[in-house]
Amino acid sequence: MGFELENLNIVVNSGSVIKCPHGGSVQVKTTTMSVLPNGKKAVKWTDPGTVSGCAHRVGGRPQPCVKMSWVTCNPLYTIDGVPSVMFGNVGICKTAANVPQGPAIILSV
Ligand SMILES: [Zn+2]
Repeated sequence: MGFELENLNIVVNSGSVIKCPHGGSVQVKTTTMSVLPNGKKAVKWTDPGTVSGCAHRVGGRPQPCVKMSWVTCNPLYTIDGVPSVMFGNVGICKTAANVPQGPAIILSV
């Protein structure tokens, strides 16, 4: 099963809307100069995300997600030799102390 060109429209990119499990916003900074047909920069699975606005609390104390890293990728489409990320791949949101707090939710690519 190959990766068809039409699937480029489900590659996570600089304009994708991604949330943490608690409603925070995940911004992914991509380091590539490679641009998708839609004009957005594709995200590599090594590209880290930053989370803002997470309201998660544990025992009444704030324990927000502040970063996100991808744990699965799309090896069929690579960017600068690195697998891309597409709709359906999984990123894990973490606290500043690297405590995993759940999967990121890709709302739109
Ligand atoms: Zn969160």
